[in-house]
Amino acid sequence: MMKKLLSLLLVLLFLLPAGASALAEGAGDPIEISDLDGLLAIAERPDGNYILTADIDMAGLSWKPIPFSGKLDGAGHTLYNLQVTDAGDDMRVTRDGNLKAYDTFFAGLFSVMEHATVVDLNIVGAYIEIDAQSHCFVGILAGYMYRCSIQGCSVQGRARLNNYAVMSGIGGIVGYGAGDFGFCTADVELIFEDRNLEERCEQFMGGILACGLVNIEDCTVYIDGYDSCHGYVHDGGLVGMYYYCGMDVHSQSVRRNRIYGQISFFEDNPNRRAYCEPTLGEEMSVPGNYYSNEREFERNETKDYSKVLLPEQCDEPEIHFTLTSPTCDSWGYVYHECAGCGYHWIDSYFPPQHSPGEWEIVQSATAEHEGLRERHCTVCGELTDSESFPYVPPEPQYVEEVVTVYGIESTETLRVRFKDSVQARHAKDAEALTWTSDNPDVLSVDQDGNVTGLRRGTGSVSYSSADGLYSGVCTVTVYYSFWQWVLIILCFGWIWYI
Ligand SMILES: [Zn+2]
Ligand SMILES: [Zn+2]
Repeated sequence: MMKKLLSLLLVLLFLLPAGASALAEGAGDPIEISDLDGLLAIAERPDGNYILTADIDMAGLSWKPIPFSGKLDGAGHTLYNLQVTDAGDDMRVTRDGNLKAYDTFFAGLFSVMEHATVVDLNIVGAYIEIDAQSHCFVGILAGYMYRCSIQGCSVQGRARLNNYAVMSGIGGIVGYGAGDFGFCTADVELIFEDRNLEERCEQFMGGILACGLVNIEDCTVYIDGYDSCHGYVHDGGLVGMYYYCGMDVHSQSVRRNRIYGQISFFEDNPNRRAYCEPTLGEEMSVPGNYYSNEREFERNETKDYSKVLLPEQCDEPEIHFTLTSPTCDSWGYVYHECAGCGYHWIDSYFPPQHSPGEWEIVQSATAEHEGLRERHCTVCGELTDSESFPYVPPEPQYVEEVVTVYGIESTETLRVRFKDSVQARHAKDAEALTWTSDNPDVLSVDQDGNVTGLRRGTGSVSYSSADGLYSGVCTVTVYYSFWQWVLIILCFGWIWYI
């Protein structure tokens, strides 16, 4: 029976190869996203298959985190200047080390990611700041993930979570959850401030993930963490607490990662545990493959609970900033630095930019077809713009002049007045000018527009272009020049003056 079915299927495939492949392509063709509207539209179809076709500036918009359960291929492109100040609307249950459940909200580019795949996406200049009245997890890419795969992605930015609830955490890439990270980079400043002094919070912080169970392989983390906690601290260079948290997953590998940076923290709690480690903060679950993780990490614990720990050390910061302009192949940005303590950060990214030169006509426009023009970068020479332009018929031009010339000779003056000015306006047609003299006894003109005065008198020289757009007339009066007078009187006497 199976064999029969299989052979029938094969026959169908051979009979309908075009139809079958078209169907397959149609189902798999990613939706292209090239701007902010395209990103916002993910909310209408969160399970879609998407690909970025451009870098996207997210400045000026307070991004509302959206759920995602599809595939997003960043194709190496960058979302820059993401700003998030509110959690998304989507609630999921999170669990602490005792598997106690909390209804929790999430903030990041995505609020909740489930069965999602994100590859080759970069996020730079992100800034997230959440005042969490409810239990909340923050991550620059997503607050929550379940059975997701994040491969070849990078995030750079700052995130701050002010906690008013209990269950809360902040991760460089993702807040809470389960899944896979491979070949990702997180360059993050993370700040957690516990403003709930009534209850002991369950707090988590990690360069990749705050809390959960994940594979993390070949990732790089640069973390600068600040954690002021009046509950239970779980901080790690990669993951704050490595634990299955009741999620149905079997992830086992934490290997070949590099962790650089520090976490400054306090744990204001009589039942102090103070988990803060270079790789995994608290290992409630132990990864099966757990090796080759390179660390240069400082665990900076303080017992002074009176002052919120922040990267800015000054009570009255004096911030200076410098703007680095983008170039052909590098990003521009604004660099901020405190003159007092040296604290610095980067935001307001500008994408690489060429410096377009003047438009160059590649093909002139004619009455029959549009023209084509291009601009190239003045620095690297790359083609930056190319566009067609319509034919605009020139206005006919008619010029009338009166000139007096002293001296019977070739008169450059006329050529300059006529031909060269016409040529300057419309070089091509000037070549096809026709010149005529209405009084050949007094004036002659050749087809280059050189006028010769032949005797005293008045005449006119006319020209017209083949297309009739340029025409004009110059009335010329020819007199003898002073030296011609002298010569004539000396040779022939005044009698010749008639
Ligand atoms: Zn300072
Ligand atoms: Zn260039």
